[in-house]
Amino acid sequence: MRRIKMKLRYGIKAKLFSWFFISAVIFFGTIFVLYMNVQQIVNISEVIINKNNKISLISKKLIENLFSMEENDKKYHLLKKKDYLNYFLSSQKEFQANLSEILQMDTMDTEETTASHQWKKLEDDFQKFFHKLGELKKTEYSRSLWIPESVINQWIQNVTKIQSENERDIEKAIMELHHRSQMSAKNGLIGLAISMVVGLVGIMFLAYSMIRPIRELIRGIGTISQDRFSKPIHIRSKDEFGELAGAFNKMALRLSQEEQMRSDFISMLSHEIRTPLTSIRESVNMIVEEVMGTINQKQRKFLQIASTEIGRIHDLLNRFMQVSRLESGFFRINPRSLETGSFVVDCIYQVKPIAEAKNINIEAQIPDGLPNLMGDPEHLKRLLLNLLDNAIKFSDSGNKIKVRVELDEKDSIFKFSITDNGPGIPEDEQSLIFNKYYQARDVREYMNGVGLGLSISKRIVEAHKGTVWIESKTGRGSTFGFSLPFTK
Ligand code: ADP
Repeated sequence: MRRIKMKLRYGIKAKLFSWFFISAVIFFGTIFVLYMNVQQIVNISEVIINKNNKISLISKKLIENLFSMEENDKKYHLLKKKDYLNYFLSSQKEFQANLSEILQMDTMDTEETTASHQWKKLEDDFQKFFHKLGELKKTEYSRSLWIPESVINQWIQNVTKIQSENERDIEKAIMELHHRSQMSAKNGLIGLAISMVVGLVGIMFLAYSMIRPIRELIRGIGTISQDRFSKPIHIRSKDEFGELAGAFNKMALRLSQEEQMRSDFISMLSHEIRTPLTSIRESVNMIVEEVMGTINQKQRKFLQIASTEIGRIHDLLNRFMQVSRLESGFFRINPRSLETGSFVVDCIYQVKPIAEAKNINIEAQIPDGLPNLMGDPEHLKRLLLNLLDNAIKFSDSGNKIKVRVELDEKDSIFKFSITDNGPGIPEDEQSLIFNKYYQARDVREYMNGVGLGLSISKRIVEAHKGTVWIESKTGRGSTFGFSLPFTK
């Protein structure tokens, strides 16, 4: 038991586990790729939200601040109201704060961009003017426009330029987002498709690796139940099915060995009994024929009964020996060309007396001009006589038996059939009646026989490369048929 377990390298459990492992790898692989894609999407969106969006907002504010500075500067010079100066200063402070916020964001960025250069330049320029502003006395504001209009306009232009660059960056990032989302969807689909293909292939492989040996086993069991013999089944898989096939082959071998032993025993026994039986029969016949002196009527009657019974036993032994001869490898047929019609008619003539004794009519339907039959006359005669004997045996008095010969040119075969109106054979027994020693349940009690006739007949047909079949319905009679190839 331990040794068998060691041999199981690819058991069903291992196959299921490997399939599960592969599916899990693909599943988690797909999830990982999707996670990476989503992570990239999140990073890009974060940049858009945290940087580009802020820059866009602050840029707007910067432009507003610059416009406000320009406006309040002009108003202050025109109206000389201090409020405008204060507005100017607060816009200027706001501008400076917003600019520092942007620059701070830029310093957090690791890579240097053209935008960050431009922001720095703007800050430098602004600082220059702020410095100048610090040197002026408040009363001097009235005399000097501390930032010339052209400079403010230039700054506005610069900020607008950076802002549109930022907008372009946002657009680019959105495009990238779109691309990444498409890729995620594509990767997800590919993963799904691969999982489905692997799943399907895995299931098909598993199903195939189980169904194939099961079919082989069914075939083997089928042949054993039909013939009590099965060729070894070939299952190469190294799983439990392979083990089962090994056990089945062992069982089949054991069955065939036992069958062989039984057959050898019966053959040996028949042989041993036949020789003394022949002497007994000869002796009885000599006494009946009064070779050893006269016998009275009563003695003759009993001796004749003994002679008939000895004849029956002799016949039975002959059948037993015939079966074992057919089963042994020494069964040979000596085929000859036979005139089909007259061969069948001869056989019918041979059983005619028994049929007439039961008032049974045998009708032969044999077309003219049939090609010759190729076969062993002795065996084929036995085959036809077996089937005719059975038909007569199972027919009631006054019934009719039909013997038909058909030519199937397409398949190059003769089809012979013998139909009776007897009791028929139940469907569940039809597959068994060609087995050795098989007799129908209800027949065993009242009919003579040992159930060898049909088994012998089947072997004869198969030795001639033909097939046998039966069509029967309980209470409606039976048709026994067989095919034989013909010679052109
Ligand atoms: P036996 O040699 O004892 O006659 P067979 O092998 O010829 O046995 O037949 C086996 C069994 O098949 C019979 O016992 C009978 O049950 C069935 N059988 C054979 N021929 C017929 C038939 N024509 N009608 C009904 N049953 C039949």
